[in-house]
Amino acid sequence: MRCPFCGNIDTQVKDSRPAEDHVAIRRRRFCPACGGRFTTYERVQLRDLVVIKTNGRREEFDRDKLERSIRISMQKRPVEPERIDQMISGIVRRLESMGETDIPSKVIGEIVMESLNRIDTVAYVRFASVYKNFQDEEDFEAFVSELRPGNDDDVEDD
Ligand SMILES: [Zn+2]
Repeated sequence: MRCPFCGNIDTQVKDSRPAEDHVAIRRRRFCPACGGRFTTYERVQLRDLVVIKTNGRREEFDRDKLERSIRISMQKRPVEPERIDQMISGIVRRLESMGETDIPSKVIGEIVMESLNRIDTVAYVRFASVYKNFQDEEDFEAFVSELRPGNDDDVEDD
């Protein structure tokens, strides 16, 4: 595992233990080159997910990207880091068990919003703006209109 601080490839595992109720293995790592310490998680990946953007572009699902956006929304909020990890794992498990490997980005956004809304309203509102930054404008508009009550089933044309 490459050191995130200096890029050295030879890092050492100092400690491994089960995390998130044995859903993950948490490893404390040490980089002998720069003295940096960091943590990695090992998880079961049931299947490779593909994200389908509104414009039809396909992209490999990136858990780290999802996690980054959620952590940004959660910054300085009174929520335990463990709780956030559990939420992210829960979201990924939901996506993996949807029965489809191809998942529209909109669906992912909705699931994240739903989870955030249950944990922290401020983070939920923040995520909406982060979401706007990493999705196509069109995606976000579609998403917002779905949140509005009384929305008709607009059919998107190509
Ligand atoms: Zn290093």
